[in-house]
Amino acid sequence: MRQQAEQFGAKVIEQRITSIARKRDDFLLTSERGERKFRTVLMATGVINRRPPINDAVHQSAMDAGFLRYCPVCDAYEVKTQKIALLGAEGAGLAEALFLRRYSDCVTLLTLKESELQPVHQDALAKAGIEVVTSPVAAFDFSSGAAVTLMNGKTLRFDTLYPALGTDPNNDLALSLGLVVSGDRCLVADSHQRLGIKGLYAAGDILSSLDQISVAMGQAAIAATTMHNDMRDEDGETWKPV
Ligand SMILES: Cc1cc2nc3c(=O)[nH]c(=O)nc-3n(C[C@H](O)[C@H](O)[C@H](O)COP(=O)(O)OP(=O)(O)OC[C@H]3O[C@@H](n4cnc5c(N)ncnc54)[C@H](O)[C@@H]3O)c2cc1C
Repeated sequence: MRQQAEQFGAKVIEQRITSIARKRDDFLLTSERGERKFRTVLMATGVINRRPPINDAVHQSAMDAGFLRYCPVCDAYEVKTQKIALLGAEGAGLAEALFLRRYSDCVTLLTLKESELQPVHQDALAKAGIEVVTSPVAAFDFSSGAAVTLMNGKTLRFDTLYPALGTDPNNDLALSLGLVVSGDRCLVADSHQRLGIKGLYAAGDILSSLDQISVAMGQAAIAATTMHNDMRDEDGETWKPV
């Protein structure tokens, strides 16, 4: 995709942008290698999934083996009927456990700290046949499946574990421009991907929507077309009936 974009004149510059500022009709983007001005900007900075406390090498090998997973919407069908653990007995964990229950009879909700589940949530989980383990997880072992040792000393074994510890949106640049974020700290765009500041658009996980590649690409297609048309409009190139 990069090669194809470059073939048509796109320049790919790999630099972390540390600040963005409005400069008259342009945006001034700063990285450690200097500043550049752009007429339009598409924010596609994504989100970071919070990880359980395990080192990077163990994390990577557990992901590669499918013992650790982050996206039930993406791959729950791969773990159909397996023994699944959900880590994070709060809002996100509850929703994901109920989602996964359609794929497996054996879903268990684990927690990293004392569970803060309300009675109404406990009822919903009990009705769905989801076991809730209240003793927090003290250690992980992904050498063969997903095993956890609890604070109470017990060890539980699963085929796979989904952390549901929430995400941190990469929204610093947007916040610095004064954009308002939604409850999940993501950005909110209109149906043409505009963010409410002239020349600024967004696509992908940084927006409040389903975090999927197909969604991000669809939003990017809409954004690219809007950017093109808005610039034509500003330049007086849009045909208007007389
Ligand atoms: C483990 C896992 C498995 C997944 N599996 C699937 C799947 O099977 N199918 C599916 O559809 N989706 C899957 N997803 C979701 C999918 O990855 C996302 O929906 C998709 O990547 C969103 O694309 P994006 O461009 O919005 O964000 P990202 O892919 O996260 O890209 C954002 C980019 O912006 C960069 N960035 C952030 N801040 C700055 C800055 N200040 N300056 C410069 N660059 C910056 C980041 O480094 C990153 O490269 C999965 C996600 C995870 C975590």
